[in-house]
Amino acid sequence: SIALVWFRRDLRLFDHAALYHALKEYDQVIPVFVFDPTILTILPRADRRVEFIHASLRALKDELQQAKSDLVIRHANPVTAILELVAEFRASAVYTNRDYEPDAIKRDTEVTAALREQGIALRTFKDQVIFEQDEIVTQANTQLAAQPFPSLQELNFEPAGLADLPVQAGTTGSEALFENFKERIDRYHLNRDFPAVKGPSYLSVHLRFGTLSIRELAAYAWREGSQGAQTWLSELIWREFYQQILWHRPDVVHHAFKQDYDALAFSNDEALFTAWCQGQTGYPMVDAAMRQLNQTGYMHNRLRMITASFLVKDLLVDWRWGERYFAKQLIDFDLASNNGGWQWAASTGCDAQPYFRIFNPVTQSTKFDSDGKFIRRYCPELSALQGKAIHAPWLANQTTLAAAGVTLGVDYPWPIVDHACQRDKALALFKHRGRTP
Ligand code: FAD
Repeated sequence: SIALVWFRRDLRLFDHAALYHALKEYDQVIPVFVFDPTILTILPRADRRVEFIHASLRALKDELQQAKSDLVIRHANPVTAILELVAEFRASAVYTNRDYEPDAIKRDTEVTAALREQGIALRTFKDQVIFEQDEIVTQANTQLAAQPFPSLQELNFEPAGLADLPVQAGTTGSEALFENFKERIDRYHLNRDFPAVKGPSYLSVHLRFGTLSIRELAAYAWREGSQGAQTWLSELIWREFYQQILWHRPDVVHHAFKQDYDALAFSNDEALFTAWCQGQTGYPMVDAAMRQLNQTGYMHNRLRMITASFLVKDLLVDWRWGERYFAKQLIDFDLASNNGGWQWAASTGCDAQPYFRIFNPVTQSTKFDSDGKFIRRYCPELSALQGKAIHAPWLANQTTLAAAGVTLGVDYPWPIVDHACQRDKALALFKHRGRTP
């Protein structure tokens, strides 16, 4: 008997619940992946995430081939593709790990209904069973001779420069990062807030695409037990928390979790929003952060909080605009965590930052990038500024600016808003939410 195992956001072979159960219950297992054109067509033609998935699939396919199996890839509507694959391989079941995003749930409901008409079950799993690596080797599979692997071009995408970034796809990439982080995990609580320091794990993209096992990470942190490891474990729990929120309150995709915050009258000034996207706000910490995002597809967590707060509470732009921009740019974009992070920063979310807590972008900069090392990396036009001027160039005197070769308005923008003034406006906006002041 034959079962398909449908890989989605779990691009690995170890500790993989659906694969484990399928191998246990069926004589033969056909691993499949479907590129969904509905998702792909709306993306830019050069997209780092597609390139990451593509490279991770290459690695997965190689690993399967070494185990005398293969990965079957289709580029088609998932309902049609799965039905065709079932017919092609005469499979009597489809195994897959559950995906909790609303669109994915809708897709799986459709696939379930279509399969049911053929008398076939879609068996879904909470992906939580520890699986020993040497158990994954399949029986020599005569039906899986040399399956094709589509190039990015055949998928109608171009390379997005992933190779130039410090991001290595697949389980090889995640293992190398995790090994490196193990040496630093005990200092995580001390280092994690400073963007110029190698403090966090940088594992988010691997968690997003399942090129590592969340159980392996959680078990390691639990066993390790140091203060750093415990703090890190609590971050993994934030990820779980936001997944739970999305599952129980799918309306958060479009609306504030706290319903009375849904109709905040944001000014939504397009020019301010564009300056924020481009890292041209005149606030060096915010600009360095946005440029890190644009150039690398990653942004440090402290900076995600600072830039999100700045967009909502200094520029008075709807958090959903920022959420959408992050969703386009982040390699580790995850609907649940991104939405949760934005609603936290905008004070509209569950257990969010209270609205009257407003980050001062200069204080945050002085505290978390005190010598301006991170700012200098991404705002080279300011790199010669000395002392406090790197955090707030508009407060520096002419001599300091001239000595550093900086002319405000020419080399680097004047601040596009005044923080103190915007802070008052934000407080009034939130206080009188839904009511005329
Ligand atoms: P580490 O510090 O090493 O943390 C380990 C893992 O824990 C992360 O990979 C992540 O899976 C989880 N984690 C850590 N912090 C959080 C958090 N606050 N919320 C949820 N999970 C967390 N994370 C995403 O994975 N995708 C997103 O799209 C995303 N968007 C965000 C948007 C905003 C506005 C904010 C404030 C945060 C967002 N985060 C998002 C959470 C967090 O910033 C990133 O997970 C983290 O920076 C990734 O880097 P790391 O893997 O080195 O993290």
